[in-house]
Formats: sequence, structure tokens, C-alpha cells
Amino acid sequence: MKELAKRIQQIPPYLFADIERKIAAAREAGRDIISLGIGDPDLPTPQRLVEELCRTAHDAVNHQYPSSQGMLSFRQAVAEFYAKRFGVEDIDPAAEVCALIGSKEGIANINYCFVDTGDINLIPDPSYPVYATATMLAGGVCYSLPLDASRGFLPDLAAIPGNIADRAKLLWLNYPNNPTGAVTDLAFFEEAVAFARRHDVLICHDNAYSEMTYDGYIAPSILQVPGAKEVAVEFGSCSKPFNMTGWRIGFIAGNARAVNALATYKSNVDSGVFQAVQYAGQMGLLDPEQAVSESRAKYAARRDILVGGLNEMGWNLASPKGTFYVWAPVPKGFSSASFAEYILDEAQVVITPGSGYGPAGEGYFRATLTTEENRMAEAIARMKNALGSVTF
Ligand SMILES: *Cc1c(COP(=O)(O)O)cnc(C)c1O
Repeated sequence: MKELAKRIQQIPPYLFADIERKIAAAREAGRDIISLGIGDPDLPTPQRLVEELCRTAHDAVNHQYPSSQGMLSFRQAVAEFYAKRFGVEDIDPAAEVCALIGSKEGIANINYCFVDTGDINLIPDPSYPVYATATMLAGGVCYSLPLDASRGFLPDLAAIPGNIADRAKLLWLNYPNNPTGAVTDLAFFEEAVAFARRHDVLICHDNAYSEMTYDGYIAPSILQVPGAKEVAVEFGSCSKPFNMTGWRIGFIAGNARAVNALATYKSNVDSGVFQAVQYAGQMGLLDPEQAVSESRAKYAARRDILVGGLNEMGWNLASPKGTFYVWAPVPKGFSSASFAEYILDEAQVVITPGSGYGPAGEGYFRATLTTEENRMAEAIARMKNALGSVTF
């Protein structure tokens, strides 16, 4: 066989491969492992959405190829969600929305619509790894925007050199943020839209966690900024609000030229989302509150156990107002990787090393809230045993 393409060769080795091997070995040996590692809801999809899938799966019309842009009724549900949830009333479902096979698919594929070899994307560090790896797969180059605790994990857009900003194609943003749990307000999005106009950059805002928020905080959409549609698209997902990660349904909304380019690209590489899945997703989007209020209460209770427990050990963490992640510094004497390894070996608890989300994540770990309360409490008890009190 000839060499693999350079685009795949250059993808860095999977950073969690080591720890995943250790987890598998520990489970094999019969050890009781508690995973705070993966960001995948443990709660089931709401029953009425499952029933909507079953009902529509019986209809033979839905057994044929869907349109790759998605059913108009699904896209209308997205537009209605924007109107009701964000007060954004001017999303045209025919031209400004496209269904996605999970938002990850669109987040990766939009690169092929904008990025030619050597083009620059602006990518936060740390961040969801797909922004960087998909940029590279499309032949692009990542320019890192470090996210620092001192700035609330918001990028300093003014610090980007003008010649870089002028050349950049895409600016990736994600609030509520994976992995830091940071949230933002509309003022930051206004600043980002002004930046995008000044430098003719397309903002790709990943709003996967818009509904996973706590303590009364309500996450905005970047499309609430007047005129944002001229320079921005937003990615949304049914995965996190409706516990539908396995179903694969998300959407892009915003700039018509970008949405149309992605739909064109997709019509050549996939054939859309199973319509019964779209019917279930659309039912969720038309009445999101019913589904998310229960999950929110559960995540918030788990968060309080986790953050409270860590703080009793010596951390000084504020409770995240969004996402289901707690992002915390590792104690003195550890790297991200060595701390994750220590906690796995000594407490049988899986956490993720922050360095897996970019070099600026070194010195941090991420723990997820997708584990039920009594297991969360058990994880904390084991960590207390293994660590005693910590210093930084
Ligand atoms: C989970 C997640 C997604 C997307 O999930 P899909 O299931 O592909 O819709 C996108 N962005 C971030 C930051 C996520 O954590």
C-alpha cells in the first residue's frame, strides 16, 4: 500500500489513547472505575421523542433518502427555536438553516467550504479538538488564541496581529465552553462581530451547550447581535439538550452563503439525516424547556457535589454556570497527564488531562457531570483518600 495522505498523517496521535488503554486494563482486572471522563449524557432521551421516532419510522415515506439540507419542517423548527428562545426572528428556514448529522459533522465539513491549503483559522486553546483537526484535514493552518482564566477564558481578539486576522478565514468560538465551562454575555459577541467585519472573517459559533446552564444564567446566541448574520453562523445540536448524542442530529443557522456552501458540500458526501430522527429532533426544538429543565437540575446537583468536594480538598473553584464540565488546575507537583494517571491508579476515577484540548490546557484537568450523584460522591470520597488536602 502507498503512503497515507499527508492530511491524515499530520493528525496528532490521540492524546487519550494511553489513559484509555489503562482504563480498559483496570476494568479487565475487575476494578470498579468511575468515569468523569466523557461528555456524553447518561440520562435517556425523553420518552415522547423516542415515541415520535418510532411513530415516524413506521411511515415508508421516511425510508427513502432524505434531502441533505434536511426537511423544511425541521428547518422551520430551528427557526422557531431561534425566535422563541433567543428572540432572533429573522432566520429564513429555506436559506439560512441546514440539518447536520450531529453538529460535529458540520463543524468539520465547513472547513472544506472555506479553507484552501495554507489558509488560517483562528482557534481557541484549549478547545473542542475538532476545530483544529478539521482545519488541518482541509489543509488549513491553526492560529491559536490562548484562553486564560484571568480573562474568563475569552480570547483576546485585540491581541491577534492584523496581518493574521486579515488572512484568517474562520474564527471559532464556543460559549458555554467545552472544556472550561466558561460562559459569556452578548457584549463579547458584539466585539467578535465587529472584529469579523473589520477583518472579513466568518465566525463559527458552536452553541452546543446553549441549554445546559445553571443558577439562572441564560446563554445568548451570537445571532442576537444586530447584523451578525452577515459574518456569522452558529452550530446547534440536539445531542446535549435532549440526551440524543447517539441519534446524530444538529444544525447550522445564520449566513446564507455559508449555509448554502455547506449544504452543497454535504450533498456530495452524505445524504442527510434519517427523517424519523429529524421528526424527533424537531419535536424537541419546538418545546425544549420540558426536556432540559429536568437534566439541568440533575447536572447542577452533581456539580455541587463535585465542586464542593474539590473545594473541601483545597481547590478554590467557582461553580460553572454552563456545560457539564468542571475545569480545574492540577495540584502542585503534577502535570495534566500525571495527575490523570495518579487519580486513575489511586482512586479508580477517570478525569481528562487538560493538555488534550491544546497546549494551554496543560496544568488543568476536566471532569464531567454525566455521572449520577451517589457515584459522584463516591468519586470525591476516593479522591480525598488518595490526595488528602492539596496545594497549588
Ligand atoms: C458535544 C459537542 C458537540 C457536538 O456534538 P454533536 O453530537 O456532533 O452534535 C459540539 N461541540 C462541542 C464543544 C461539544 O462538546
